[in-house]
Amino acid sequence: MHLARFPRVFLAHLPTPLERLDRLTKELGGPEIWIKRDDCTGLSTGGNKTRKLEFLMAEAQAMGADTVMTQGATQSNHARQTAAFAAKLGMACHILLEDRTGSNDANYNGNGNVLLDHLHGATTSKRAGGMDMAAEMEMVAENLRRKGRKVYTIPGGGSNPTGALGYVNCAFELVSQANDRGLVIDHLVTATGSAGTQAGLITGLKAINAGIPLTGIGVRAPKEKQEESVFNLAVRTAEKLGCPGVVQRADVVADSSYVGAGYGIPRADTLEAIALFAQLEGLLLDPVYSGKGAAGLIDYCRKGKFKKGERVVFLHTGGSAALFGYDAVFAEAHRALVV
Ligand SMILES: *Cc1c(COP(=O)(O)O)cnc(C)c1O
Repeated sequence: MHLARFPRVFLAHLPTPLERLDRLTKELGGPEIWIKRDDCTGLSTGGNKTRKLEFLMAEAQAMGADTVMTQGATQSNHARQTAAFAAKLGMACHILLEDRTGSNDANYNGNGNVLLDHLHGATTSKRAGGMDMAAEMEMVAENLRRKGRKVYTIPGGGSNPTGALGYVNCAFELVSQANDRGLVIDHLVTATGSAGTQAGLITGLKAINAGIPLTGIGVRAPKEKQEESVFNLAVRTAEKLGCPGVVQRADVVADSSYVGAGYGIPRADTLEAIALFAQLEGLLLDPVYSGKGAAGLIDYCRKGKFKKGERVVFLHTGGSAALFGYDAVFAEAHRALVV
């Protein structure tokens, strides 16, 4: 596995720290909980998309692009990290934002990631929820190309085999950190959405025969659909990497029991997970992805699916910028703190 063969813009702050969460571990009374800090990748408040963009933006540069386009939900962390990466490389950036939640909250629509998209100089345009966003993006990109722009389009979440290489890289990095300190990892847990993170991780883990089971906590699609999309992308990523067939369907495990009413809509256990991480560990999760991923982790510990004596690593995928678009969901719980 020789990742250096693939074009890459070295920009993320790597390796990200691997830390033990002592107070959360004590609170839950189960396995030892560790965290892999991919919220600290360095670009515009960090997050998991930066690792993918190292490979995607290198491809954009190699193709001579002067403009990048991508798409996502209104509070997309991927959009924000793409806007920042484009700024750093001196490229224009245009983003299509899909209204997946129907919220007309002012902060949801203008603060958090949306504020940062615009601070980085990206242009945005809104689309109604449920539209074929990939087709919309290609249409807009074609228009820009007709005007002479060289446009590189990045799929939602940066999830294609090129982007997934960023998480193959993360798998290698994590295993190497664990080896260096004699840490045996029994489980790895992460939020899973557009699938690139989980697909890259499982491909990397299987390629080096790490023997670390990975559970993706879904944030949108039902289990079957999520596992299929992770598996399909892992198969293509393994081919790109030169180790076809290394990922089996049974290696791909997703659990969509923590989604609640839908994408981008936090439920009580999401908010509890955010509060626990913030108040026990001083860490910021988000209400769309890492809060739901952590809710799954916490529930697995409480139910004894992860046991005392085991070591579980939670991959923190970032997203805290979205908190500022979701202040309304914390209002009631926080009222008691104003004394
Ligand atoms: C995009 C995102 C995820 C999900 O990663 P995918 O590669 O899309 O599955 C998880 N957490 C955060 C904070 C994200 O922005």
